[in-house]
Amino acid sequence: MIAADLYLNKINFLKYLPQTDCQECGEVSCAEFVKQLKKGIRAPSACTFLTDSQIRAFHLALQGGRILPQVPALELPRPAPAGLVEINHPNEGSFLLISGNSEFTQEVISSIMAFTVSSYWLLFVDCRGDTVDMAMIYESLKVEKIVAALKELPVDLRREIVLPGFAATLKRPLEQEIEWQVKVGPLCIAELPLFLGDDWEVPSDINLG
Ligand code: SF4
Repeated sequence: MIAADLYLNKINFLKYLPQTDCQECGEVSCAEFVKQLKKGIRAPSACTFLTDSQIRAFHLALQGGRILPQVPALELPRPAPAGLVEINHPNEGSFLLISGNSEFTQEVISSIMAFTVSSYWLLFVDCRGDTVDMAMIYESLKVEKIVAALKELPVDLRREIVLPGFAATLKRPLEQEIEWQVKVGPLCIAELPLFLGDDWEVPSDINLG
């Protein structure tokens, strides 16, 4: 099987460090610290400015290759049901995460969601079953489809959306159509815990090393 690229090499670890190059971790810069993190030579806790939840999120992102399932590179679209999914009993104040309705996308997202006790709404928008990167190329994930899906939501949410990183170009046109606050998430789903910060709580019984 030729495995799909899950964009683990696109995780932007540096973005979540203080970027002061203070050298308290023993490295000459935050960028060098990231290099050592990726090699497994340094642990996230060596940066003393990170909170416990940030350290856990770093561990999750670093272990993305083990946590995320291998899925085949897409030859044909694999549509799964579109619609709203509840993660950990969300309420009106929970984030709404948007993605496409590829079976493989849903599988990969589910794998990372197993590592949080935080609550989210997940809205899978019909993009004919393309993965989000392909959906942007084929233009199957469209603003009008997202708007239509939002209008059909059965609950009134806090109006804060996280788009997949690959759908960044939809942010502006989407904001012109709706009154929701639109954020652009990461390219790699393993970065989501870092991106959501304190809004992503890892279960206390999971040992991340
Ligand atoms: S201790 Fe943290 S902020 Fe300071 S250089 Fe190391 S990684 Fe950067």
